[in-house]
Amino acid sequence: MEKNRKAPARHKVVEDYLLTMKLFCGYCGTYICGESGTSHTSKIYRYYKCVSVKKKRASCKKKSVKKDWLEDLVVNETMKIVMDDKAIEAIVSMVMDLQDRENTNLPLYEQQLQEANTGIQNMLNAIQQGILTKSTKSRLEELEAAKEDLEVRLAMYTSNPTAKC
Ligand SMILES: [Zn+2]
Repeated sequence: MEKNRKAPARHKVVEDYLLTMKLFCGYCGTYICGESGTSHTSKIYRYYKCVSVKKKRASCKKKSVKKDWLEDLVVNETMKIVMDDKAIEAIVSMVMDLQDRENTNLPLYEQQLQEANTGIQNMLNAIQQGILTKSTKSRLEELEAAKEDLEVRLAMYTSNPTAKC
């Protein structure tokens, strides 16, 4: 709450529209995004709108849907599916699994990245001292590719995908 007070835009983008990036238009297949409008009485109306319609990119006949109505519907239907012992058990075990994987992989990737960085530095030092063989270049390229790969993996664990519409 403290964070959101300082950055009101963050609250608006991430939390206001529960279904952002989770809805697709049944007519044209593109994303459905949140949108709001203010009436002449300054009342704010919130709804979900097909991106094709919003950006006038393609003709799509999907009408805007009231935000509260749609979110209530989705939440209620989801609860019906989730509120069942078997489903809860399955979800818990999936989450635990994911957590285990993150816990074991993360330090490993961090260590490998450090090793790749050290390797690259050693290679560069060798090149600087004039020690250059045919295999130096290909080994350096290998290390740089490994480094890039590890950085992507680490980013996947640490990044927090923000919904953009
Ligand atoms: Zn559409």
